[in-house]
Amino acid sequence: MGDRPLSGAAPRRRITIVAPVYNEVEGIAHFTAAVLAVMAQLPYDATLVLVDDGATDGTAEVLDRLHAEHPQQITVIHLSRNFGHQAALTAGMDVADGDAMICLDCDMQHPPALIPALLERWEAGYDIVQATRREVGDVNLFKRLTTGNFYRVLNLLSATHIEPMASDFRLLSRPVLAVFQRDLRERDRFIRGLVSWVGFRYARIEFDPPPRFAGHSNYSLGKMLRFARSGLISFSKLPLKVASVLGLVVSTLSLLYGLFAIFAWVFMSRAVMQGWASIILVTTFLGGCQLLFLGLIGEYIATMFDEIKARPVYIVARQLTAESCQPSAVSHQPEER
Ligand code: UDP
Ligand code: MG
Repeated sequence: MGDRPLSGAAPRRRITIVAPVYNEVEGIAHFTAAVLAVMAQLPYDATLVLVDDGATDGTAEVLDRLHAEHPQQITVIHLSRNFGHQAALTAGMDVADGDAMICLDCDMQHPPALIPALLERWEAGYDIVQATRREVGDVNLFKRLTTGNFYRVLNLLSATHIEPMASDFRLLSRPVLAVFQRDLRERDRFIRGLVSWVGFRYARIEFDPPPRFAGHSNYSLGKMLRFARSGLISFSKLPLKVASVLGLVVSTLSLLYGLFAIFAWVFMSRAVMQGWASIILVTTFLGGCQLLFLGLIGEYIATMFDEIKARPVYIVARQLTAESCQPSAVSHQPEER
């Protein structure tokens, strides 16, 4: 923390910087040093919250050491297991008590050097400052193609416009953060969608994502698909309505065909006899459609099931704050003399 304000001087505003961390043993110390260097230059009292998302590679021990070295500047939250990026981010946002919160990835793909630029927009009166990637960055062709197309489809289906190249690198002012902490408690979390949904004054800054500093991406194909599913289910009801429209179209067509068959039989004395292949085709196609839409409904029901169970988004196993290092909080020693 910075110097105490002189009496009469306005107290410095407080900033909380949040980074989720999962198996980043090689890069986390470098990231922390970079953020601390930026924090030292800021005209604010800044705290860095590092959320250990159940890392299994020794990251937890490094985080404990970093906290011990900078107890006033660094808070560490150890989650009880891996809950996923969005849940870890939520855990950090929940303890953020600054006048503004900035979140970013800890692999240096969200350059900490941009933090002052985000704060500048905040000072200019914006409540949400979203950093968007100019390019997808140093990723494989598959991720490049799927990312762009996913946001295109999502925006077609969703009433909320979701920034295509948005990352989880952004600033939220206190009022927006309060909405997240108090009201937006859904379990299936697609935070970049929620950020678009809440409204408020919104600014955007663009950046070119550098390659990862160390280690490898923890977003496996499975995690990416689950993330895409969350975005779709949380922000669009349209897939549910497609079944009704398709059902209406198919029923109308089959009714018309039925009328035609009766007409042909009565007036033209002609029964429609042939068409085994077309019957199989139509039956299997419609069977497929029905199963697909049943599955889609199932996805929405599964999401509702999770909401009804109301399990916590994450569980904190251990938290290291400035207070947990205060002698008064940890000392149980009787006074000497
Ligand atoms: N992360 C996390 N939990 C996970 C996966 C990732 O907290 O289950 C963190 C990770 O340490 C990083 C950020 O989320 O700070 C983004 O992850 P990653 O770089 O692997 O994703 P990518 O940039 O490839 O999309
Ligand atoms: Mg990354």
